Amino acid sequence: MTDKKQVVTRFAPSPTGYLHIGGGRTALFSWLYARRNNGKFLLRIEDTDRERSTDAAIEAIFEGLRWLGLEWDGEVTYQFARQARHREVAEELLRQGKAYYCYTSPQELEEMREKAKAEGRPIRYDGRWRDRDPSEAPEGVKPVIRFKSPNEGETIVRDHVMGDVRFANEQLDDLIIVRSDGTPTYNLSVVVDDHDMGVTHIIRGDDHLTNAGRQSQIYAAMGWDVPEFAHVPLIHGPDGAKLSKRHGALGVDAYRDMGYLPEAMRNYLARLGWSHGDDEIFSTEQAIGWFDLDHIGRSPSRFDFAKLENLNGHY
Ligand code: GLU
Repeated sequence: MTDKKQVVTRFAPSPTGYLHIGGGRTALFSWLYARRNNGKFLLRIEDTDRERSTDAAIEAIFEGLRWLGLEWDGEVTYQFARQARHREVAEELLRQGKAYYCYTSPQELEEMREKAKAEGRPIRYDGRWRDRDPSEAPEGVKPVIRFKSPNEGETIVRDHVMGDVRFANEQLDDLIIVRSDGTPTYNLSVVVDDHDMGVTHIIRGDDHLTNAGRQSQIYAAMGWDVPEFAHVPLIHGPDGAKLSKRHGALGVDAYRDMGYLPEAMRNYLARLGWSHGDDEIFSTEQAIGWFDLDHIGRSPSRFDFAKLENLNGHY
């Protein structure tokens, strides 16, 4: 048997608002999994959207995590500060012929879109700069860097919650990894950061499942180990619809202000999507002892104030 790597999980919020209940649960699952395995739980602030990221949101995330008792290990990583490193990896991909400069103009892209629409095909970039020499580049066009996504076969994401999720490679076009203004895009940054931070398990919302396919391809191209994934279904309201404010889509701080106790909140959030037999009430220590990724349910969980209220009465 080979030595098992130390488990490293992370929480990677974009600081564009308060820490909401779904983020709190993702952080809790990542924290529980790290603690269960004597691993590390890291925090990365994904502040690359300069317009929408705010210091107040960063503070609210810190505060929310602290209130929930989810202390992270080591220093916080700020994604924006790592752009030079992200570009370095894009350049490495260029050198290896796994990425290329693309000079397609906005007009050409528009034509491509129109044509695809008229023919009833999905809109995809057609790879026209894949094998062209940059010496053919038109004057004055700043290129983007695109990743050469494999265009045959399939990419399989092995997910602890969703099982094997298969993407037909022909459906994924060549992803832009660096924009024409030189800024790296989300999927590249996330892969580079998770790799450099030594993340072994990515636990996050299932709205990132398609990205996991893209990201797996970048890991493979760099020859890096792909982390294990667990994509957790979103939290819905009691009526099964998207969680609204009235039904619980509040900041973690709002629950604190309503008088809920962090222990009750942890217990409640742990049960929201993860099951351990019939146990309803358990301490955080018990949750750490029991937590696993294979008992996270595949269907969205429903938020229920009455249950939270009831749990709160036990603490
Ligand atoms: N920053 C992303 C978000 O807040 C999460 C990225 C990730 O977990 O990979 O949705």
